[in-house]
Amino acid sequence: MYNPGSMKAREFIDDAEIGETLAWADENRENEELITDILSKAREYKGLTHREASVLLACTLEDKNREIYALAKEIKQRFYGNRIVLFAPLYLSNYCINGCVYCPYHGRNRSIPRKKLTREEIRAEVTALQDMGHKRLAIEAGEDPVNNPIEYILESIDTIYSIKHKNGAIRRVNVNIAATTMENYKKLHDAGIGTYILFQETYHRKAYEELHPSGPKSDYDYHTEAMDRAMSGGIDDVGLGVLFGLDRFRYEFAGLLMHAEHLEAVFGVGPHTISVPRICPAEDVRLEDFKNAIDDDTFAKLVACIRIAVPYTGMIVSTRESAASRERVLNLGISQISGGSRTSVGGYASPLRPTDTVQFDVSDTRSLDEVIKWLMELGYIPSFCTACYREGRTGDRFMTLCKAGQIQNCCLPNALMTLEEYLSDYASKDTAVIGRKLIEKSLTDITNRKVLATVKERLSLIQNGGERDFRF
Ligand code: SF4
Ligand code: SF4
Repeated sequence: MYNPGSMKAREFIDDAEIGETLAWADENRENEELITDILSKAREYKGLTHREASVLLACTLEDKNREIYALAKEIKQRFYGNRIVLFAPLYLSNYCINGCVYCPYHGRNRSIPRKKLTREEIRAEVTALQDMGHKRLAIEAGEDPVNNPIEYILESIDTIYSIKHKNGAIRRVNVNIAATTMENYKKLHDAGIGTYILFQETYHRKAYEELHPSGPKSDYDYHTEAMDRAMSGGIDDVGLGVLFGLDRFRYEFAGLLMHAEHLEAVFGVGPHTISVPRICPAEDVRLEDFKNAIDDDTFAKLVACIRIAVPYTGMIVSTRESAASRERVLNLGISQISGGSRTSVGGYASPLRPTDTVQFDVSDTRSLDEVIKWLMELGYIPSFCTACYREGRTGDRFMTLCKAGQIQNCCLPNALMTLEEYLSDYASKDTAVIGRKLIEKSLTDITNRKVLATVKERLSLIQNGGERDFRF
């Protein structure tokens, strides 16, 4: 029986409820009156239920689909403006005892070299990332209690935060590691992590069990209830995600929104972010084996419908997506992207892109500078902001500001100041010229005169006085 307030995965991700939701969405995919009502509700910017949003996803009426895309763009603009936050993944270790069939790190893959970064290698990686201009990382590691125990993860986080190379600093470390105990989540919280990210992969229990035949991750309930342990352990910001293509995308969509509803019902705050990776080829992974893989149009519709359903949740797209695909979804709801990523263990410090330990093939292989320039040419403001969690704006405090539209007063000034840091320290000449023009133009959007004066003074101190790390 569906119960979003339950702490049991079987009840908050209820298969029968998803079945009924999909059937209802199918019945109403051309119900103009109902779709109009759902869109009117969505225009109040308070989100939609999984049932309502599933009707929008199933909708086959062309003019209504145009309205869906237009509304997604409007919501994106209202809550996130034209800012895009940048981050990079950092792979610590590809040792893994799980058997996920879609990932080349699975424990039975003997053809991949296994590698775990030492403290010195982490220094080299983080120095290379700082030299690119990154300030925000997402660390990734396989599950292996012998090679990657929690102590290793904690020590790595400590090392990452301690490295100050030239003007560089990693100011926010998000963590993407396997589901663990509440005690370990407390330790991660105490280590000062930003968001704890864990992809569900698929919400369909049977598919999940087939795709995860061995290892601790094969336990659907333990995995699905991980966010509850993380939040109970003190982590305020959690990031959900599905690997689209493992099961039917409409099933995953409903499950994802039910998971968000569950977090809201139990903790009073929904997910901080939602990631939307799609299955893609890798060593030992063939796309032909995944009959549920989704095309670009379906991907765009998914992004638009998630944006409408959960307006306050950041949305992340990685370099799995090509530049063209990323461009298409940026204005439909994506607020964070990775740039200049290397998806192998030790990839950043090596001069050439290594291929022996990659988790997935990168489609967008451009450098961070190229990505920044591209974003600005498209009219976006690249942001390296990490202010909220460092100012204690997490969990419900963050969401309250977000829902009231007040967070915007911080986001734009912080975006401009962190962009200026990037331009002063790392940008190519061309990128710097475009960036300074963009900053000049964007200053006119800061309406509070006192804030504007402060931002101008700080921009000058960054550019001419060598000062760093201002934030609102
Ligand atoms: Fe291991 Fe994660 Fe890959 Fe599964 S997806 S095999 S848990 S690294
Ligand atoms: Fe994100 Fe907060 Fe910075 Fe805005 S001010 S970009 S919400 S960290």
